[in-house]
Amino acid sequence: MLDPSSIPVSLYIHFPWCIRKCPYCDFNSHESSGSLDETRYTEQLLVDLAADSSWVNNRPIQTIFLGGGTPSLFSADAMARLLTGVAQRVDVASDAEVTMEINPGSLEQASQLSAYLKAGINRVSIGAQSFNARQLRHLGRIHGPADTVRVALAAKQAGFTRINLDLMHGLPDQTVEQALQDLDDALALPADHLSWYQLTIEPNTVFHNQPPSLPDDDTIDAINNEGARVLSNAGFSAYEISAWALPDQQCHHNSNYWQFGDYIGIGAGAHGKLTGTDQVVRTTRTRQPGDYLRSPHRKMKPVVKSERMLEFLICCLRLHAGFEASQFEARTGLPSSQLDHFLARAEQLSLITRYQDRIVPTEQGMRFHNNLLALID
Ligand code: SF4
Repeated sequence: MLDPSSIPVSLYIHFPWCIRKCPYCDFNSHESSGSLDETRYTEQLLVDLAADSSWVNNRPIQTIFLGGGTPSLFSADAMARLLTGVAQRVDVASDAEVTMEINPGSLEQASQLSAYLKAGINRVSIGAQSFNARQLRHLGRIHGPADTVRVALAAKQAGFTRINLDLMHGLPDQTVEQALQDLDDALALPADHLSWYQLTIEPNTVFHNQPPSLPDDDTIDAINNEGARVLSNAGFSAYEISAWALPDQQCHHNSNYWQFGDYIGIGAGAHGKLTGTDQVVRTTRTRQPGDYLRSPHRKMKPVVKSERMLEFLICCLRLHAGFEASQFEARTGLPSSQLDHFLARAEQLSLITRYQDRIVPTEQGMRFHNNLLALID
């Protein structure tokens, strides 16, 4: 028996359009042709939300994430209407974290940021990716380094106190010095959170068909080690494989994913995960924006008991703080004794340690995350 009321719930809202598709991107993003029908899309989002609202069970929504695609192609007015509509359909916590992703090339005027803040957005996540103009061109980004600087400073000026920068490393032919320069440039901006992740080549992308020349393993290791030193010296701590934050500035929304919390996912191609008293389900929506506008084609698939342990561990072992055995039981409905075999092997290989009820990946366990996951039965 599961108790959904003990599990925090978030809301993810997907905006599937971008000005141009980046060659490394495997997200559900589609090049926009002409003007977007904001009203029709936001109305459909609210219809979509209403269909899942019964799963919330009086739990206040703790976080909202407006992701994409490029949500910043939508006006502040559209976001204000959307967030008002959300609050009319589900209970939103008064101190909810509300994040919007911003592509620095999508904002024409800095004044838009004040309007987004007034609309109820209180955290921005800026897709910097690199501060090297040549790399940005290679990555197919629609912005240059100066656009990121302009948007980050304008966000601060507008009154945003929580600013994330997305930054990649392991870029084509990138040297250690170039990667560290990107970090220095990011740290010069008023960001309290950095998502610093390695470029990976995903199937069904342009880079997969025409692979760029990537740095070798030794260079990646050096970037990771030196980069961690730079970020630590600047006061940032890693709390997840790719997430770094100043004290108390962790992203609550992503933390909820990684703790196997619940989230409603609405919008074209959005995924959700929800818990009832006798089941855990994953939800999906149709990926094509045109189809979604006709109908979200909401689908729901139970996460059967035999899959729940794997799914829980894939999420929670990304966190430096690990998880508690009692949390495993509350969120999967399984006895923690099911972890015993995995934990014994992982402990023997020094990939995890245990402190009373808490299971924590070691430094080795974080570094060789895939080896750790491979031990799961
Ligand atoms: S801007 Fe982001 S979502 Fe859009 S194509 Fe590029 S990487 Fe993908």
